[in-house]
Amino acid sequence: MAIIIDGKQVAADVKARVAKEAERLAELGITPGLAVIIVGDDPASKIYVRNKAKACEEVGFYSEVITKPEKTTQRELLEIIDSLNKRADIDGILVQLPLPKHINEKAVIGAISPKKDVDAFSPFNVGKLMIGDGVFLPCTPAGVMELIKSTGVEVSGKNCVVIGRSNIVGKPMAMLLLQQSGTVTICHSKTENLAEVCSKADILVSAVGRPNFVTADMVKEGAVVIDVGINHNEEGKMCGDVEFDEVEPKAGFITPVPGGVGPMTIAMLMDNTLKAAILNAKSAAKKSGKK
Ligand code: NAD
Repeated sequence: MAIIIDGKQVAADVKARVAKEAERLAELGITPGLAVIIVGDDPASKIYVRNKAKACEEVGFYSEVITKPEKTTQRELLEIIDSLNKRADIDGILVQLPLPKHINEKAVIGAISPKKDVDAFSPFNVGKLMIGDGVFLPCTPAGVMELIKSTGVEVSGKNCVVIGRSNIVGKPMAMLLLQQSGTVTICHSKTENLAEVCSKADILVSAVGRPNFVTADMVKEGAVVIDVGINHNEEGKMCGDVEFDEVEPKAGFITPVPGGVGPMTIAMLMDNTLKAAILNAKSAAKKSGKK
């Protein structure tokens, strides 16, 4: 029987630490601020944005949700980002993805000041992560690292397999595991002998987006199994990628869905916004000192 990793608890611990730091900053007159931009009417995106604003309130941050209609042009969106880049009360800017098809996501993400890019999706912050200098770590993979840490299992020297190679989960996930000296394999839709590769993993992270994708034969006895997937089964119930009932008896540790990786993503966003506020306050102090 696996130990179930309690993502809600680990996320609550991260948020409690962030809230404590925010209290300390408040004494110095600093309130971290996060702006979230949402374009269009995607119901899932609306829920995510609402939860992000709620988390800001919980940890004592200022938050601003900018809601724009589906027909918003790229130029309009870039102008909003430009004005948020210049505002001293906004430390973090997040553009909720996906954007409508007529808007170039890369251009929009690239327009966010790297100092305010709390999702860590901009080429600058991706590059920083690659060379091991990441200040902001991408929220979902960073959350997974916290969950692995909570198990007490050392990543160093372990066989780590990541299924999925997206820019927001799979690739940065592999990079963070590598930085902790894991021996990392990235699997994807073209991988041959996927089950065999996965079955050698001490740490298996699935970020595919398909229910019941990871079955017991793909899992090594005692492995740490992290399920990033958010899917809905035939009954419309939320589920991950892992066939939980059959994998759980075999794994050493496993995350549930919901209640595993999901809560961590927002907790790590709060952590990044806190970091941004501290950095921005330091750079403002430096500037005013020079005057
Ligand atoms: P994506 O669609 O961009 O990437 C999916 C990846 O799965 C691809 O790299 C693809 O190569 C791989 N894949 C597809 N079919 C495969 C197969 N048959 N064998 C092996 N690999 C295969 O998705 P994403 O944005 O990386 O998200 C992945 C999942 O994680 C989704 O369910 C998403 O909803 C979820 N997600 C959860 C959180 C969270 O906070 N918990 C955050 C982001 C994404």
